[in-house]
Amino acid sequence: MVERSAPPASAPAARRPRNPHRAESWQPTALRRVRVRAVDEVAPGLVRVTLVGDELGRFATPGTTTPTGPVGSPELVPAVCSPFFDDVVVFCLPDPATGEVTLPVPTPGGGLVNPPGGAALVREYTVRTVRDGALVVDLVRHAEGAGVRWLETVRPGDELTVVSPRVSRELPAVERMLAVGDATALPALARLIEERPPTLALDVLAAVPDPAALPRSVLPAVPLADSDRVRVRMVTAAPGSAVETIEALAVAAVPCGFAWVAGEAGMVAAVRRHLLDRGQEPDRVQFTGYWRLGGSL
Ligand SMILES: Cc1cc2nc3c(=O)[nH]c(=O)nc-3n(C[C@H](O)[C@H](O)[C@H](O)COP(=O)(O)OP(=O)(O)OC[C@H]3O[C@@H](n4cnc5c(N)ncnc54)[C@H](O)[C@@H]3O)c2cc1C
Repeated sequence: MVERSAPPASAPAARRPRNPHRAESWQPTALRRVRVRAVDEVAPGLVRVTLVGDELGRFATPGTTTPTGPVGSPELVPAVCSPFFDDVVVFCLPDPATGEVTLPVPTPGGGLVNPPGGAALVREYTVRTVRDGALVVDLVRHAEGAGVRWLETVRPGDELTVVSPRVSRELPAVERMLAVGDATALPALARLIEERPPTLALDVLAAVPDPAALPRSVLPAVPLADSDRVRVRMVTAAPGSAVETIEALAVAAVPCGFAWVAGEAGMVAAVRRHLLDRGQEPDRVQFTGYWRLGGSL
């Protein structure tokens, strides 16, 4: 059974920035063969996977495209890079029934499509770090799903094909930003805290089942010196629940320059509605359903 197949290609000419306040830059779409170096349970239900391999660096491949069209073959693909906090790497997962991996195909438009007669099973994860030749992601262990089934069996030394971040979105040029997310958004929230510009007033709210169990490597603390500009709060909430988050948002400064919301689709929709009701302009909220409780997106 194929649960989520490769996204359709999009024509570069029709591509507009997803949000007018976040300029986009594109990298070639390249499949990279990597090796799992470590699988660590960093918190209950949260697994850190460290990937390594020569193809995270610059390498030659015949199957590369850029948003402006196909490039010569073979082409040197640049080393993987992840300049912004919510950059995404795509995992090409095995069919849980057969164990076979069907790879998506890069298109001339810089996208990914299914191969003829096949369907690739892909999942997207935020790049937590790319450092010293290793790419790190933090995966939430959902109740079920292809990602979870892969996590159950994956061991150091296993191989995996990933598609490195294709598009990166710059931070909006605002003075004040609100960022809200569930456990699947923790890597992005963590990067936002770590990589924020010094002048940004940042209000972060993470809704997770067990805040006390999260180590600093998952959600960093803010240095005391920055506490007047950066606030990081966690609320206890079951996956998919928006009530606790919306209650906690009562003390947030809304409207603000930009709001970023990601996580379970129902929660994200409810938080977005709440922010709009409080006067946040629609194009100043970027909301992304990362997954859906009780079914696929
Ligand atoms: C831009 C982006 C960035 C992301 N970053 C991260 C990240 O850094 N870390 C992370 O953990 N996730 C991240 N995600 C979310 C991740 O891609 C999803 O959680 C993904 O769906 C996980 O795949 P899965 O196979 O484990 O679970 P899925 O198959 O998607 O299932 C997840 C949940 O959906 C429900 N469900 C699915 N199928 C069924 C069914 N047949 N019947 C009943 N219920 C069902 C269940 O509640 C299940 O627990 C990101 C998503 C996006 C779009």
